[in-house]
Amino acid sequence: MQQYLKSLTLLLYLALAPLFGPVAIAATPKPEAPTTVAGARDIVQEIINVIGLKPRFELQPADIDNAAAVVYNGERYILYNERFLDAINNAVHTDWGGVSILAHEIGHHLNGHTLSRSGSNPEDELEADEFSGFVLRKMGASKAEAQAAIELLSEEETSRTHPGKRYRLAAISKGWQTANDQLLASAKGPQPDNRGIVSQNRPAQQRPAAATQRVALDSRSVLTRVNFNKAPQEQFYLTTRYNLVHMTEDGVQVIGRLAKTNNPDYPYYFESDFLDTIFVTDEGYLVNKRGQRVGHLS
Ligand SMILES: [Zn+2]
Repeated sequence: MQQYLKSLTLLLYLALAPLFGPVAIAATPKPEAPTTVAGARDIVQEIINVIGLKPRFELQPADIDNAAAVVYNGERYILYNERFLDAINNAVHTDWGGVSILAHEIGHHLNGHTLSRSGSNPEDELEADEFSGFVLRKMGASKAEAQAAIELLSEEETSRTHPGKRYRLAAISKGWQTANDQLLASAKGPQPDNRGIVSQNRPAQQRPAAATQRVALDSRSVLTRVNFNKAPQEQFYLTTRYNLVHMTEDGVQVIGRLAKTNNPDYPYYFESDFLDTIFVTDEGYLVNKRGQRVGHLS
């Protein structure tokens, strides 16, 4: 797969204009720097954690100049050049440079830019920049740190594919500020408007992160209580409409649904995005995939 990808990257790279102009990687040779791959993976996970979405793309080291968000065969990839990230991190004397570039590329995926076949354009670039500023603030970067890579690498003038430096710095600043306002507001109390940058824009390809649903629950609609051994304090109920609900401080949340199996020993299971598969026996025991009892109905 990797070999296959490598042979594809040139093509993809030509199809999608690069994030930055050519970067003189050779000018910053570095002896062995084995931390980058693991570092890049950790960074992507951190970025994902900030926005609360499941990663729906793969991270692949590739023979490209810097980094790119691509779709191939319906799969999403973030391609990155290991030495590029390393060189960036070196050049700006902080890890934030590489982080911001990965965040920018992830921003392309999450904003749906990679769905179009037209390649880079200034509007998309600014959205991805804004996203990177937002993410980096949430991760703890200063505004200057969030802007460091673009400050170093962006062209001054706007081109057909990329905005000029000052626009890009302004977009990063805007995202950074949005995150900063959110953090300040949540430190003070409830935050009425916590829309992230991701959700402001094209919602086309974004799956809701956690499709919880508020419902009212009164005793008449409760069929039984659901007890999970691992969470004895938590209140879960099965409703008369076979929804599995969780009582939280925010109210009742539907987290799954009781569905039928074809297995007479385990005739039901909870269909849920939040739980590993849990079967329900006729006797009312909850059983995991390994056949261990993990709770009961009461
Ligand atoms: Zn870009």
